[in-house]
Amino acid sequence: MNNQTKKIDLPLKIMFLGGIGEIGKNMAALQYKDEIIIVDCGMTFPSVDMPGVDLVIPDFTYLVNNHSKIKGIILTHGHEDHIGAMPYLLRDIKAPVFGTNITLALVEGRLRENKMEGFVLNTVRPKSVISLGNSFKVEFIHVNHSIPGSCALSITTPVGIVFFTGDFKVDFTPIGGVPTDLVRIAEIGQKGVLCMLSDSTNIERLGISMSETSVGRALNNIFLDNLDRRLIIATFSSNIHRIQQILDLAKKHKRRVAFRGRSMLNVADIASKIGELKYDKNILVDIDQIKDISDNNLVIVTTGSQGEPMSALTRMSNDEFNKVMIGAMDTIVISASPIPGNERMINTVINNLYRKGAKVIYESFAEVHASGHGYQDELKLVLSLVKPKFFIPVHGEPRHLKKHAEVAMSMGMSPQHIYIGDLGDCIEFDSRTMRLGDKIVAGAVLVDGLGVGDVGQVVLRDRKHLSEDGLFVVVLGIDTRSQEITACEVTSRGFVYMKETEELIDEAKDVVMQVYSRLDQKDLADWNLLKNIIRKELKTYLFSKTRRNPMILSMILEN
Ligand SMILES: [Zn+2]
Ligand SMILES: [Zn+2]
Repeated sequence: MNNQTKKIDLPLKIMFLGGIGEIGKNMAALQYKDEIIIVDCGMTFPSVDMPGVDLVIPDFTYLVNNHSKIKGIILTHGHEDHIGAMPYLLRDIKAPVFGTNITLALVEGRLRENKMEGFVLNTVRPKSVISLGNSFKVEFIHVNHSIPGSCALSITTPVGIVFFTGDFKVDFTPIGGVPTDLVRIAEIGQKGVLCMLSDSTNIERLGISMSETSVGRALNNIFLDNLDRRLIIATFSSNIHRIQQILDLAKKHKRRVAFRGRSMLNVADIASKIGELKYDKNILVDIDQIKDISDNNLVIVTTGSQGEPMSALTRMSNDEFNKVMIGAMDTIVISASPIPGNERMINTVINNLYRKGAKVIYESFAEVHASGHGYQDELKLVLSLVKPKFFIPVHGEPRHLKKHAEVAMSMGMSPQHIYIGDLGDCIEFDSRTMRLGDKIVAGAVLVDGLGVGDVGQVVLRDRKHLSEDGLFVVVLGIDTRSQEITACEVTSRGFVYMKETEELIDEAKDVVMQVYSRLDQKDLADWNLLKNIIRKELKTYLFSKTRRNPMILSMILEN
């Protein structure tokens, strides 16, 4: 008789709360038995069909419901799409947080903005290994990306190793001098990896991405070509290596540096405090003092590389920032590429800058930006080193995920071992198989001002309706005793110009009066019904006259 106890394989679950089938609000959770760890907690910016929404975060319902099981929150790097929702998560969940120095400094900044204090943030370094609960060991591995302190994660679980690439590229000449740790990645591949989850952002770009060092060379040439002009360089505030290169070039070319834009000032301050950004304090000049500095001695480093409406560069391009008036002696460098969807905004800014006589240099005709995400050959390189049994492309829209799956198949992976995921998916693994488990709650929670999740589809629909067709308001005064109408006023916003449409206004009032006179006593008693009837009749009337469909509010005042 065989006494050997049969090993029961409990599944390891990988759940996606965000960042799959979309680029933004990255968040995944791993669960084994009753232990959960969270990888990243990002936000995303609202799309055009979400007017007035400030930001979008993942739906945390599953994690809140399983609060006591959560052993830790692991952050791969400090970009908003990986840490931006942390203040909201930490309101509901208390768990230790792990990340590199700069990542946690940025998280701390966000928490402080939200007046949240007293959280335990644990700093790790590349090569650090931490144990979480009985089921998880997490190793941090250095990778190159457009922010320092970026890591891949090798997570050892009872079922096997799960490898998250995080956002990465392979830069052999990075700023800071340390390329992606391919040696360690290869060693982990040798141990045998159960499942790999890889960045898919640039899968459609063939070959390899440009090194950050090349950007420095291109910027150096711009400094040389514009010796007597003022330089204004727009880039992402989180691209600390880019800012470092600009600071170094400014020193070399004897220019002072003025930072402009709230996040630029903020990140420069945080990064220099922890030694990620190194410069001589004397090189900086306050934006209020730049009038004393000649054009050829100044470089302004600003936010607004995406043409965001409220950003510093956009305001300069519209003459809304009187400390920096753009003119013919300015050379503006957009050291970034447009995030898909932002092209029109940035085009407007570039056109406005040209109108003012400035010279504008951007990615299309100068190497002033390098992507932080590896191109196809870099993604292939890491996939071939890790050699996972199962593969899940992440950090991509459906087309990127599909393309990444095809690339993996072209490298010999079986289609049955690749999964193209969706929000809310729960993938279950034992050491031999991968299967789809029950979906978990997942989706987008909209944040508007202090409200989290109180802006839903109905509010959005109203905002869209108002923004497209305007508002038409009718106020009816009714004497409660006699049931007589004592007043009928109409007003509108964003619908028609009232002064020129007296006829329309008068007729609209007539419509209301007629509706009222047609109704019998019973209908008049129910004011909600009365308001609805008025709304319907007005809608028909206004549409027949204008072919427009404003939002109609009818109000009744008793007197
Ligand atoms: Zn990133
Ligand atoms: Zn990202």
